[in-house]
Amino acid sequence: MARKIGSLYQVAPDIAGLRTGISNVYFLGEPGAVNWVLVDAGLPGYARRIRHAAEERFGAGAKPAAIILTHGHFDHVGALRSLLEHWNVTVFAHRLEMPYLTGRSSYPPPDPSVGGGMLAWMASIYPKGPIVLGSHVQPLPVDGSVPGALGWRWIHTPGHSSGHISLFRESDRALIAGDALVTVRQESLLAVLRQEPEVHGPPAYFTSDWEAARESVEQLISLNPRMVATGHGIPLRGDEMIIELRELGTHFDALALPRQGRYVRHPAIADQTGVVSLPPQAEHPVQRALFLGASAFLIAWLGGTIIQSLRNRRSRFIE
Ligand SMILES: [Zn+2]
Ligand SMILES: [Zn+2]
Repeated sequence: MARKIGSLYQVAPDIAGLRTGISNVYFLGEPGAVNWVLVDAGLPGYARRIRHAAEERFGAGAKPAAIILTHGHFDHVGALRSLLEHWNVTVFAHRLEMPYLTGRSSYPPPDPSVGGGMLAWMASIYPKGPIVLGSHVQPLPVDGSVPGALGWRWIHTPGHSSGHISLFRESDRALIAGDALVTVRQESLLAVLRQEPEVHGPPAYFTSDWEAARESVEQLISLNPRMVATGHGIPLRGDEMIIELRELGTHFDALALPRQGRYVRHPAIADQTGVVSLPPQAEHPVQRALFLGASAFLIAWLGGTIIQSLRNRRSRFIE
């Protein structure tokens, strides 16, 4: 399965993925379909690549029936505003995610004190929003249907964010889990660079309610999925995935819950207006020392992937 950054890869006959730097977007629809849906919108700088991938799969001038957001963290909505300049489509998200998409509230601050690697240590520089989508964004239908994606239903899987959703299709038990669980140790830059596959809890530095995150993982396991495609990492299927998934559910505290962290014992409280209250910030001296170096490294790496994406774009025109 090709997983080069910016390249389209097949997940299932009617599901394709695209890696935008550190996060994935998914295209739901058979190749050549008129009616298809984009799930999430990746990192900033990838709008043109996402549009080209859409045309590659669905044909010239392809435009989705809708854009569905698993949640609104910066690495899942980065290309959204640029995409909406070309595609006049409705974006759907859970109603509890709306404050972060309409300018009403920022997310709870990311928590570098969870540790686990460079991507966690530098979390305090990650944008926490909100973005302002205005009337482009609407709440998902209350009946669980997914606009534009027949056969799929959305499931509220809070914890990583309060309005986080996953998508599930009964017919082939395909699960798109967003960041409710992921298939790479997202806190570690090394693991992310290598894309080492492993069923893992939600990216810890952005998870603001661990009890809800645990219940969401249990809920997803109870669906008995046969394939899992996530916001970070490669899609997994088969017996090994099922065993790892059950392990994660059974040993969530050991495998996913950080030993320390701002939200580990007390969640951020949020409602339909956004963040209502936050636990006090945890001080972590080692993290402060590592922060500057780690930040510089990640900015250089992310900058590199965006420049590479722009270069690829230019070389397509030259061809
Ligand atoms: Zn996230
Ligand atoms: Zn993410």
